[in-house]
Amino acid sequence: MQLLMGMPGVRELTEENRGLAICEHCGAAYAVRILEDGQIHPIGRDTCSCGSDDFRLLE
Ligand SMILES: [Zn+2]
Repeated sequence: MQLLMGMPGVRELTEENRGLAICEHCGAAYAVRILEDGQIHPIGRDTCSCGSDDFRLLE
C-alpha cells in the first residue's frame, strides 16, 4: 500500500483536494472537491444547474 501524501500518522484527509471545474455540458464553473477515487463533486451541490454531473477540472 502506497501513501501518496507521505505524511506519517495522518490517516484522515485534513486538507481536501479542491479545485475549479467546469461543466462539460454547459460550461458553468464550480468550486469542486476531488475525492480520493478521482471523482469530482461540486461543493454544496450534486450536479450542475443544467443537471449534468460531468465535470472537467481546470488547472
Ligand atoms: Zn452544466
